[in-house]
Amino acid sequence: MKLRPNARFSTICLHAGQEPDPSTGAIVTPIYQTSTYVQDALGQHKGYEYARTQNPTRAALEGNIAAMESGKAAFAFASGMASINAVATILEAGDHVIVSDNVYGGTFRLFDKVLSRYQLSFSYVDTADLDAVERAFTPATRLLFVETPSNPIMRITDLGAAADLAHRHQARLVVDNTFASPYIQRPLELGADLVTHSTTKYLNGHSDSVGGVVVANRDDDIAWLKFVQNAAGAILGPMDAWLVLRGTKTLPLRMAQHNANGLALAEFLAAHRKVQRVYYPGLRSHPQHDLARRQMRGFGGMLAFALGSLEAARRLLNGVRLMSLAESLGGVETLISHPATMTHASVPAERRNALGITDGLVRISAGVEDIDDLTEDLGQALDQV
Ligand SMILES: *Cc1c(COP(=O)(O)O)cnc(C)c1O
Repeated sequence: MKLRPNARFSTICLHAGQEPDPSTGAIVTPIYQTSTYVQDALGQHKGYEYARTQNPTRAALEGNIAAMESGKAAFAFASGMASINAVATILEAGDHVIVSDNVYGGTFRLFDKVLSRYQLSFSYVDTADLDAVERAFTPATRLLFVETPSNPIMRITDLGAAADLAHRHQARLVVDNTFASPYIQRPLELGADLVTHSTTKYLNGHSDSVGGVVVANRDDDIAWLKFVQNAAGAILGPMDAWLVLRGTKTLPLRMAQHNANGLALAEFLAAHRKVQRVYYPGLRSHPQHDLARRQMRGFGGMLAFALGSLEAARRLLNGVRLMSLAESLGGVETLISHPATMTHASVPAERRNALGITDGLVRISAGVEDIDDLTEDLGQALDQV
């Protein structure tokens, strides 16, 4: 089965990277649960020698996600953090990185507590403000690392403009596309150089695997990431690669429903008298709604809203029945969380408040349940506030 060069996104999700198994014709790529491969004769093998270096299930997933992101190659890692760490190995001592200021907490921790020990420096900037980004460049800046929409306040960075800015300064634009997924936006098509994902979230989509991937377009990055994946060895195992491959087949179906439920919940909350403010790029009241319309296909399943106090947030979070109180996002079931004490607890209180992550803020990852059941649940929980 050969995909035509003009194959559409849903077809790519289903078929790219995967051929029927050559030995049996199995339509689903098997889980090649093996550590090594027997060679035909000395110096003669089938392209597979040792499973850290090559694994067919992982290779199928990498081909699949590379095509979904319009990239030349992809490399799968043991977690989203391992994939971001692999990107950081492009840097050398003395280099500088500009990072979105409300980047994922684990990314901030990796940069601030681990990589800063290796003579690398990081500036945290609101990348939705491109003038502020421009001012942050130094002659040592090598990467502009962006997350859009940002977590949990849903600020949007203009990816095309950010790519131009990075390239004018001889830097690469790296986009963590976890929150949107390639269904909603494909940063490489807008000029980004590298895309990272936590496949744990929308790409797998079923809350049953942890993984990460880097998608690259530049030949030098592809050669380096391939080398580092083997040299440092933080590879994704075959079972997880298989789970994510199963997930990406239904990504377009799931994302359409995440988009619809995200928008409906945002509208429900915006009209509720106990809710002070809703953060969702699909609302006309969002300050970057027009940019979001241009850059995104739908507005995603992530939203946040302010209830005014920790006590109000506590009553709501303890009151929901269908929604599950949990960290993480992007799965088929709706999750609700409290950023200040959960995902962003490691961010100092002052910094949290400056970013808008107040004690009364609640985040929802809208799943794919029937929307009426979700609004009923949220409604009865808001009654308890
Ligand atoms: C979850 C997440 C990560 C980290 O991924 P893990 O798979 O948990 O290591 C990175 N970036 C974003 C935006 C995330 O949501």
